[in-house]
Amino acid sequence: MAEVRKEKVFCPKCKKEIEIGMWDSIDIPYDIEQKEKILKNIFFKVHCEDCKILFPIAYRCQYNDMENKYMIWFVPGMEEKDRIVLADYNEKLKNDNTLRLAQGGYRYRIVRTDNELREKVFIFEEGFDDRIVEMMKVIYAPMIKQSVAKDHKILGIYFDRKKDGKYRWVIILDRMTQPLMMDINMDIYEDMKGKLKDIIEEKTPEGLAQINALWARDVMMTQVKRIEGARA
Ligand SMILES: [Zn+2]
Repeated sequence: MAEVRKEKVFCPKCKKEIEIGMWDSIDIPYDIEQKEKILKNIFFKVHCEDCKILFPIAYRCQYNDMENKYMIWFVPGMEEKDRIVLADYNEKLKNDNTLRLAQGGYRYRIVRTDNELREKVFIFEEGFDDRIVEMMKVIYAPMIKQSVAKDHKILGIYFDRKKDGKYRWVIILDRMTQPLMMDINMDIYEDMKGKLKDIIEEKTPEGLAQINALWARDVMMTQVKRIEGARA
């Protein structure tokens, strides 16, 4: 079981002091309750009993699923000290044979928000490849933009599942409490999985890395250039 530090935070509304447990790491299968909280997106939130509000609390935390073999580092601030810790870990992955052996076949990811962490855990739990999901977001982006009113900004697009078991995008907008939803055609996933297998492997960095929209756009651009190059 992971170590839990006791820390004090303040309710942003009434300024009440609230004691919370902070987790440096969450280790699956041991911390199964914490996984459920992450999937409900309440793990990095604190409840004030007086105001009856939930407020966000973000700090660096390492999520390690030893059964499904993946590690996700939640690094909200990405300050200099965070960069050093991440670089150290990646160096260790290169040189520490014991660690390499213990974590053979692992996937390593860095996320910056609790929404991203929730999404990655969900994708891996469902048995999907997050790299292809990110590529699908690039494909869907123009359609999503069209369905959003022009004066709104898209804050995030997340992979999710409806109650009927079908998959959908959850689109978080500014100035709106309810997110937009859009159904996903999973045939596209299977199609991309087949076509982009090689380039995705080639473009996946060693060790802890961010696999996000920026990464997916880069992969897509490389693929397009290669196809054009082959035609010329
Ligand atoms: Zn309060």
